[in-house]
Amino acid sequence: MPIATVNPTSGETLKTFDAFGAEEIERRVAAAADRFRHYRTTGFDERARLLNRAADLLEQDAPDIARTMTTEMGKPVAAARAEALKCVKAMRWYAQRAEDLLADEHPAEADVTDSGAAHARVHYRPLGVVLAVMPWNFPLWQVVRFAAPALMAGNVGLLKHASNVPQTALYLEDLFRRAGYPEGCFQTLLVGSGAIESVLRDPRVAAATLTGSEPAGRSVASIASDEVKKTVLELGGSDPYVVMPSADIERAARTAVTARVQNNGQSCIAAKRFIVHEDVYDTFAERFTAGMRDLTVGDPLDESTDVGPLSSEQGRADLEALVDDALERGATALCGGARPKEYERGWFYEPTVLAGVTDAMRIHREEAFGPVATLYRVGGPDEAVSLANDTPFGLSSNVWTRDEEDVRRFVRDLEAGGVYFNGMTASHPALPFGGVKRSGYGRELSGHGIKEFCNVTTVWHG
Ligand code: NAP
Repeated sequence: MPIATVNPTSGETLKTFDAFGAEEIERRVAAAADRFRHYRTTGFDERARLLNRAADLLEQDAPDIARTMTTEMGKPVAAARAEALKCVKAMRWYAQRAEDLLADEHPAEADVTDSGAAHARVHYRPLGVVLAVMPWNFPLWQVVRFAAPALMAGNVGLLKHASNVPQTALYLEDLFRRAGYPEGCFQTLLVGSGAIESVLRDPRVAAATLTGSEPAGRSVASIASDEVKKTVLELGGSDPYVVMPSADIERAARTAVTARVQNNGQSCIAAKRFIVHEDVYDTFAERFTAGMRDLTVGDPLDESTDVGPLSSEQGRADLEALVDDALERGATALCGGARPKEYERGWFYEPTVLAGVTDAMRIHREEAFGPVATLYRVGGPDEAVSLANDTPFGLSSNVWTRDEEDVRRFVRDLEAGGVYFNGMTASHPALPFGGVKRSGYGRELSGHGIKEFCNVTTVWHG
């Protein structure tokens, strides 16, 4: 895949970049390893000062970097600004909270005296150089949600960003440099995915985190496991959105539209499968479809656009193939189901609702990465749970209900890293984020996220 900015709204290649050669990669890996030797000894105050400075700069830059992101991958520009500001918030949160989150832990003396200890404690130390392989869909947020905690823990980062967002990748390196981080703390490697293996096998690289597709995750995880290196994987999702009879149907249908089409439908935690109790199915289907039909599809730089183009021609072709397969096997498009006629250029796709989906259709099991929803009718909570879990993924889930028994049941039984009631899944610095099954392992954000790349060290005094 060439490293280039190709505007998804027009299909035009705006800027291409040469991938770094072996010498430049070596220079940067060496700089990271050298820097870690010193940076690991800095205190939380110094790390927080740097991260807060980066947050201030990003806040100022938000309108400009938002336009860059939109030009590179097509998200509506208002959402791109919101993404930048969400990163600012996460940076400030970790700058303020990291010291507490990584405070030493002191097991009760009574629990450890039979180990012979006069006293013992648990101390969190950084692991070292962490390689971050990141996707284009939230080109700032995915990186910052790794970088903010990793840098506050005393690690240093090497970013291999997706090949279609090189300007955002270079912006991030520049942001941390302008904030005053010493050389080597955070660097971008402009390389294709073929260059990852040698970087990951390099003994100076301690660990890796990957957000992206399952094949990419499998590849990085298997190389890392061969080298016995820690990984965190945040992979795909096909989150269920369950609507039960006691729900506020009006609000559930309105939120469902946003939950499905956020980021032009290209979000791992977008609700993708809408599982609705038969008592409220018709009302929900009618309101949800009306909401999807009313969306404004268009130029993502236009402030009034709700849904822009997909990020790549291949991404649209993949989505089209999933919808066509479902329609050929008997699904019905309640709206959409095709490219919008008014756009000859750009990789647009109509917001689409499919009903009558069965397990014979690919879309039942595969992730639809675009503004396409599948609707299912169920008779009760048992059927809802079993359909919700009938997927290889387990990232997050949404349930609309006002019934306490439903709440207990869905928390107990849904196979997912999150259960969001009466709202849509959204990541937040203070809440752990990650999945089970083919959605990956490990957690980002919160105290769980910052500890993933720490050496949990037992300190024992006899
Ligand atoms: P992708 O093709 O897997 O790319 C993600 C990153 O992995 C890019 O930097 C890519 O580099 C690299 N990559 C691709 N193939 C690789 C391989 N075989 N070995 C090593 N690295 C490889 O995914 P995407 O299309 O950008 O993103 C969409 C996917 O990410 C969806 O499945 C989505 O659900 C998932 N996602 C998950 C989360 C989460 O938090 N769980 C968040 C966002 C997205 P190149 O660009 O150079 O190919």
